[in-house]
Amino acid sequence: MVVAPRLRKATKNVVVTSLWLIGRYRKALREIRQPIILKYHRTSASNGGMMSSSDSFEFERGVSARHLEAQARLIARYRRPIGMDELTDALRSGKSLPEKAVALTFDDGYIDNYEVAFPILRQHMIPATFYVCPGLIDSNRGFWWDEIYSCFRKTEKVAINASELAAHGMIFQNLKEVLPTRTVAERESAAQRVIVMAKRMPAHSIRKFIADLADVLQVSGKPSCSAARLMGWSHIKEMANGGMDIGSHTMTHPMMSQISERELRQEVQDSRKRLQDALGRAINGFVYPSGDYHAMAREVVKEAGHWYACTSESGLVRPTSDPYLLRRVNISDGNMALSCREIVLTYNRHAQDR
Ligand SMILES: [Zn+2]
Repeated sequence: MVVAPRLRKATKNVVVTSLWLIGRYRKALREIRQPIILKYHRTSASNGGMMSSSDSFEFERGVSARHLEAQARLIARYRRPIGMDELTDALRSGKSLPEKAVALTFDDGYIDNYEVAFPILRQHMIPATFYVCPGLIDSNRGFWWDEIYSCFRKTEKVAINASELAAHGMIFQNLKEVLPTRTVAERESAAQRVIVMAKRMPAHSIRKFIADLADVLQVSGKPSCSAARLMGWSHIKEMANGGMDIGSHTMTHPMMSQISERELRQEVQDSRKRLQDALGRAINGFVYPSGDYHAMAREVVKEAGHWYACTSESGLVRPTSDPYLLRRVNISDGNMALSCREIVLTYNRHAQDR
């Protein structure tokens, strides 16, 4: 009898907080004059929260169809959705930036972008740019971190030992002696720890590392076979012909700080060329994989002929923004209120910047 009023009160608090945040979001969308670039990754057809599915951890950076739909309605109502080319053309030529502009960007090119995001964006006539890795598309492979997730999802081991990894030459500093892998949450946490550490490995050794990891986890079959699917050329071409733009995200998504200058030039130049050849149009945009860049990477991206490049840093677009180090607002949560909060917080944080 005591619990019910408490529960009602807690529910009411959640609802009031969410509505307040959505109200603030609406206000922010209406009042922020500077252009905003929104950054998305995966999209899920599921209308529930992203964390409800059994393979939730693959969707850590995802937005559900219901929330994307709600965001699209607000964006169409309160902002001026434009393409990245139009936005960055103004920036590069010193023209005044289009007021209340918003540009949507989707990194990585997962198949759910085609299946879920494309129909919603088309319905609301919102252009977006999808940054893809042609080297992975051509080799029909997924991302290496999805292969790691796949290994942890499939393993029947209840724990792995740091010494087992070390026996395969995988020595991670600061790794706890035993990583439990019994529950979904434990597998997720173990996979994420291994991924964070693998990001610091030389890019060319990651595939070998995954094969060894599959051995340690006693996973049969190739991990690459069950990694999350990416869009193929037919999907990308259909989107390009349906009002969407395509940008480059390198050939194979290496960490730029972990490859040689020669490899870096190849990754950047080959990706743009392959996309231009496949789509028969200019590819102007680039996104640094995992937001990892340095001064030389910026130069290589510029020299390869791109008009602009996006980082993973948070912020709005200013007349003084470097077109090759553009900031975005990360819309990563399955929760609408949290996505709203991200825009409001970014605005507050950068309201004074000039
Ligand atoms: Zn990426």
